[in-house]
Amino acid sequence: MNIKGEKIAILGLARSGIAAADLVKRLGGEVFLSEMKPAEKFPGASSLQLNYNCEFGGHTDRVLDSKILVVSPGIPLSAPIVRKALDKGIEVISEIELGFRLMHPSSRVIAVTGSNGKSTTVSLIHHILESVGYTSVLAGNIGVAYTGFPIEQPGTDFYVLEISSFQLEAVRLFKPTVAVLLNITPDHLNRYPGMNEYAAAKANIFNAQSGSDLAVLNADDRLVTSATKNIRSHRTSFSLKQSTDAWFDGQFLRFGDFELHPGEFHLKGPHNLANIMAGVLATLPYCGHRLDDLRRAVAGFLPLSHRLEYVATVRGVDFVNDSKATNTDSVHFALQSFDRPIRIILGGSDKGEDYTVLRNDLSRYATKAYLIGETRAKMEKALAGSVPMESCTGFREAMDRAFRESRPGDIVLLSPACASYDMFRNFEDRGDTFKAIVHEYQKGVGA
Ligand code: ADP
Repeated sequence: MNIKGEKIAILGLARSGIAAADLVKRLGGEVFLSEMKPAEKFPGASSLQLNYNCEFGGHTDRVLDSKILVVSPGIPLSAPIVRKALDKGIEVISEIELGFRLMHPSSRVIAVTGSNGKSTTVSLIHHILESVGYTSVLAGNIGVAYTGFPIEQPGTDFYVLEISSFQLEAVRLFKPTVAVLLNITPDHLNRYPGMNEYAAAKANIFNAQSGSDLAVLNADDRLVTSATKNIRSHRTSFSLKQSTDAWFDGQFLRFGDFELHPGEFHLKGPHNLANIMAGVLATLPYCGHRLDDLRRAVAGFLPLSHRLEYVATVRGVDFVNDSKATNTDSVHFALQSFDRPIRIILGGSDKGEDYTVLRNDLSRYATKAYLIGETRAKMEKALAGSVPMESCTGFREAMDRAFRESRPGDIVLLSPACASYDMFRNFEDRGDTFKAIVHEYQKGVGA
C-alpha cells in the first residue's frame, strides 16, 4: 500500500498510536493526531506538537478530515467520534491492520490471541523460530508495537504478534500466515456486552485467512470451536484431553510422529502444556528436519516474569509471583499447578468478572485467601464459605500475614484474578513489589 500524501488520523496516543504515527510520517503520509488527555497531562506532548499536526484534550471533527482513521485499542468502536467517522465513510482500522498493509511482502506474520497465555506463547514461538535459524521479531502487546519496527523494509522472516481482542475489532486485510486462538474465557467484560461479542472480536484474527494459511485452535474450548466454525483457514488443533493434531496423552505431548515429554520443560501446569502445543503447531511447518533444534528450544524456554514465576524459598515457604493472572481462568490454572498447600493473595481492580467460579478450586487447593484491593468486598461475598479468608488493608499486610501463617512446605502465591490499577502502576509493578518484599524476608526484614 502506498500512503504517500494520504491523510491518516490517529485516534488515541498510546504506544501503538505513536508508533503508527511515526511510520506513516516516515512513509510520506499526512498525519493528524488526536488525544483525549490535555497536553499538560500527556508526557511528551510538546515534542509531538513540534512534529505533527495534533489536538489534545478531546477529539474534534478535525479527525474527520482523513481517509483512514487508526483507532487506539483503548477506544471502542462505539465511541461517538468513531461512529461519526464511519458514517462519513472514513475507513476505521487498528494499528495492526495499518502495519500489515505497510509491511514488506517478504515478511510473514504469526499472530496469537486468546484470553490467557498470549505472551508465553508468542515468546515461545519467537524463541523456536530463532533457534531454527529464522530472523524473527516479537511485537504487539508484549513490548514494542508492531508498527514500531521498520516493517516496510525487507530482512525479517517473521513478525510474531501478541494481539488483544481490542486490536482485532478493526481489521479487514490483516492476514497472518499462522493465527493462534488459545482460549476464550471471561475477561474484559467491562468492554463487551457479552461473551459472544468478545469471542467474535477474537475470531476476527482468521477473517482474511485463506486455505493456505494456518489456524491453530484449542479443541477443548467450546467458545473457540463455535466462534471459528466458518473460517476458511487450514485448521489444526490442540487438546489436553482427546487425540487431535497435537494432544497430551497423559504422558507425552504428541504431534503425529513427533513427541515431547513434559519432564523436559521448565514451564509448569496444564495451561502451559496447552501453550506449548500451540507454539509447536504454529512453528512445525517451518522447522523442516530441524526437530532436534525445536525440541531443544522448547526444553530451554523459561517462564516469563510474573507468570507463575518462582521467586525464592524463605524459611521453607515458596513464594510464587503470578501477578499477570488478571482474570479467574488464569487463577484456576495457577491453583492446579502445585501439589502443596497454597496461601493465595487475591484481589485488585475489577474487570467485571464473577468470582464465584473460583470457589471449587479454592476449596480444593488453597489453605487460605488473603484479599486485597478494590474487589475485597465483592470477593468476600462471592467466596464466602469456600476457603478461610482474611480481608487485608494493604498489599504488605497481606503478604506479611500469609508468610507469618505459613508452615514450611507452603506456597504463598500472588495470583490476584484482577487488574492492578487500584494499587499499582501495572501488573509488573505489582509483581516487582511482591518480589522486593520476598527479598526483604530473605534478609530477615519483616513478617
Ligand atoms: P497473556 O499475555 O494472554 O495475558 P500470559 O502468558 O502473560 O498471557 O499469562 C497470563 C496469566 O495467565 C498468567 O497468570 C499465566 O500463568 C496464565 N496462563 C498462561 N497461559 C494460560 C492458558 N493457556 N490458560 C489459562 N491461563 C494461562
